[in-house]
Amino acid sequence: MTFSELKLIKPLITALDKLNYTQPTPIQQQAIPHVLDGRDIFGCAQTGTGKTAAFSLPILQFLSLKEQNNNRRFIKALVLAPTRELALQISDNILAYSKGLNISHTTVFGGVSQQNQVKDLRRGVDILIATPGRLLDLMNQGFVDLRSIEFFVLDEADRMLDMGFINDIRKIITKLPAKRQTLFFSATAAPDIMKLADTLLKNPVKVSVTPVSSASEMVSQRVYYVSKENKRSLLKHLLKDNSIEHALVFTRTKRGADRVAKELNSSGILAAAIHGDKSQGARTKALKGFKDRSIRILVATDIASRGIDVDKLSHVINYEMPEQAETYVHRIGRTGRAGSEGTALSLCTADEMPYLKDISKLIRKDIEIVKSHPFSSNEKQSAGIDQQIISNHRPGNTPGHNNKQTTNKNRRRQNPRHKKNNNEKRNSKIL
Ligand code: AMP
Repeated sequence: MTFSELKLIKPLITALDKLNYTQPTPIQQQAIPHVLDGRDIFGCAQTGTGKTAAFSLPILQFLSLKEQNNNRRFIKALVLAPTRELALQISDNILAYSKGLNISHTTVFGGVSQQNQVKDLRRGVDILIATPGRLLDLMNQGFVDLRSIEFFVLDEADRMLDMGFINDIRKIITKLPAKRQTLFFSATAAPDIMKLADTLLKNPVKVSVTPVSSASEMVSQRVYYVSKENKRSLLKHLLKDNSIEHALVFTRTKRGADRVAKELNSSGILAAAIHGDKSQGARTKALKGFKDRSIRILVATDIASRGIDVDKLSHVINYEMPEQAETYVHRIGRTGRAGSEGTALSLCTADEMPYLKDISKLIRKDIEIVKSHPFSSNEKQSAGIDQQIISNHRPGNTPGHNNKQTTNKNRRRQNPRHKKNNNEKRNSKIL
């Protein structure tokens, strides 16, 4: 299935093309046609399934097709998210999807001054993304008028309830017009969630996707502890093994992808890099080479890799561990497809141990540690982290948002890089 078959308009297709989204994810395939038909949705899906696009693409389509008669824009779509991180992530996605459209949006959340948020609201926006507490504050001060809302999205409803937002949500709902389309997303369908959904939705279509935590049984997973300095040497050492016919190597950054590909090529290992800063031509060429096997190694960032659909990929290599555990599942899902076996190798430094721990919790599986290799490091001891750390997941502990939230929070506290990234992101996003 393609996005055009979902009857999305040209500017959206172009934006998705630029993002390398080649085909809709299951939640998008299931939800988008119903949203375009005007139906309410109860979506059972977690982060990582593509649910943001599932609700934002049809909303953007509706808003852009609707004639904008007013100079002053009224808020027509409200997206409620439990945390500022999620609100910003949704805002980033909407920004990317709405590139060719004349649709404005802004994000409001607590913990920062409301001044710029108010300025934006005064100017008028089509879509408002908000956390409940700050939204109520702004509503009580008369800065937000929800009477023109046509679309109401409640994202991660389960987490909202866990975080005690139910009363805020109830107050907000009373200010929404009765005639509206409501899209409700939750990772679980627990009784209290269903009760809330019942009060909000009219004859909803239920869509659900399998949680992202299920890593394929067909993928054998191994991890190598190594120091930062030795990562490149270890990668080259691993690639000397000819049983690695065809590998997708993941880095966290675009520059990292370029550096790794360059280093491999200079050591005689044919590699290409693919990421968002490469021209469409260069990306197509690299992909074609990888698919026809004239290029053995493709080095990619997560975003760029989304559109890569290669049959019989023997290996995925995590040159850098992903910060989100779900991303690991997506990465290794590139191999071991359609009944064939695959291998996922991860190169992990002491800094990256917390990510590995999160991954193990999410997939509820021990990842085999390769103890003896020429670049084996003792960093784990110096970091005070026992080698068994990745076996420390609690069996039966449902990998859920709360877990992820806590661990992410701890990780941010420990890792100054997060602080910097968040501040940078926030500064560029708060309007
Ligand atoms: P979400 O579950 O909405 O947080 O999305 C998870 C990630 O998947 C985000 O990085 C999206 O940019 C990406 N994504 C969403 N839909 C697609 C798609 N159809 N193809 C490739 N990537 C996607």
